[in-house]
Amino acid sequence: MYKATIGIEVHSQIKTRSKMFCGCKVEFLSAPNTNICSICMGEPGVLPYTNEKAILLAIRAALALNAQINKKSVFARKNYYYPDLTKGYQITQSVPLAENGYVVINTENGEKKITIHRIHIEEDTGKLFHTNDKVSMIDFNRSGVPLLEIVTDPVIENEKEAISYLKRLRQIIRYIDISGADMEKGQFRCEPNISVSKDNRRGIKTEVKNLNSLKAVEKAIKYEIERQITILEKGGKIIQQTMLWDEKEQVTKTMRSKEGIAEYRYFKEPDLIPLIITNEMINEQKELIPELPQSKFNRLVKEYNIGINEAEILIDNPRLSNYFEKSIEKGCGIKESLGWITTDIMGILNKSEKKFSYLKITPQHLADLYKYIENKIINMNIAKNILHEIAFTGEPVDKYIKSKNLIQITDTKSIEKIIDEILEENPTEVKRYLKGNNKLFGFFVGQAMKKMGGKANPTIVNKLLKDILNRR
Ligand SMILES: [Zn+2]
Repeated sequence: MYKATIGIEVHSQIKTRSKMFCGCKVEFLSAPNTNICSICMGEPGVLPYTNEKAILLAIRAALALNAQINKKSVFARKNYYYPDLTKGYQITQSVPLAENGYVVINTENGEKKITIHRIHIEEDTGKLFHTNDKVSMIDFNRSGVPLLEIVTDPVIENEKEAISYLKRLRQIIRYIDISGADMEKGQFRCEPNISVSKDNRRGIKTEVKNLNSLKAVEKAIKYEIERQITILEKGGKIIQQTMLWDEKEQVTKTMRSKEGIAEYRYFKEPDLIPLIITNEMINEQKELIPELPQSKFNRLVKEYNIGINEAEILIDNPRLSNYFEKSIEKGCGIKESLGWITTDIMGILNKSEKKFSYLKITPQHLADLYKYIENKIINMNIAKNILHEIAFTGEPVDKYIKSKNLIQITDTKSIEKIIDEILEENPTEVKRYLKGNNKLFGFFVGQAMKKMGGKANPTIVNKLLKDILNRR
């Protein structure tokens, strides 16, 4: 049996207003090559200086990732030539900001620690655009944008674990607010390295680049594991190389054979002094770390006795879980709030392709709806309809119910009258029902509810209908 071993390198942009080693603006949609200066373009004689905010945010990330911070870390030049790197080198760290961290993920066999080897600060490169007519263009606006590189140990065993890790990592980064971590904007990029072997020695690994979504990461890892096993089964050898994921063909393709570390000719950045981290800096950042996803997950499951899948949905967005907890605080039922949030509200947002921040339904709305249901003034279906209607208007629940006359019909006399009418209008169905076709009961309920605009109390309708039919 082959066993896969996977490590993942993540580059997350750090959310700052200016670049890592100069004062240029960081802005995603600026016109090409407008946010550049002699420092980030690497002209001779310029002196880079470090962005304090980026360092503080990186410290916050290292703490949230349970890593040990090096009080003294060192910037270094990684030398290589590529068109998107005008300087001919990238500033990174030879002694990293932090080491030995971990992220906890949930697997089928319980919690698993994905250990992190190192976390360091570096600068982003420019961006190449390849057009169809054999012309390539470069935008240097991105060159020098602060990046955090987070490297795991090779402890991931399959694509599912890889995705769980990446999701959890992205959640942590968003919770501590150091990056938008939007993959489509290139703010969160992952490069898995994959090897397979039959024993405990790690096989030769390949690295996959050009992954623009978690779906692509999952498919590429799966594909690469299978590709390597097929080669080994045929008696072939794996070549250590960098692969590109081809989204169109859904395959990995050779990009270049792997350069060794020596080829980068790392050396100490002569223009930057070592980075000294003080206890004050660390303590200040510690204070700013909120409850993190995994503890929130465990707490929600325990405190509210909710399912694992629902807890995962809630914690994916801290605003969503806060929203849920607020609604309970305001008096909404746990089951009802959970159902409305995870199916109705998420459904409404998905369908309208709108973000959570556009939603006008507040936790108070949910608590109010719950109160109306508890007092048997409206039924669940009406409540769901109301959610859809007020999603982006935020009209108060009581006002909406009154204006649309949605108060539940509980008066047995009027419900009986409607049932009599329904049975009269459907004589054939009544005959078939009385002959033993019990399935038609649901049809009668549906007809009666429809005639009362969905406002009847379903329990009463069911009971009265049964009584009336039994008398026939
Ligand atoms: Zn600049």
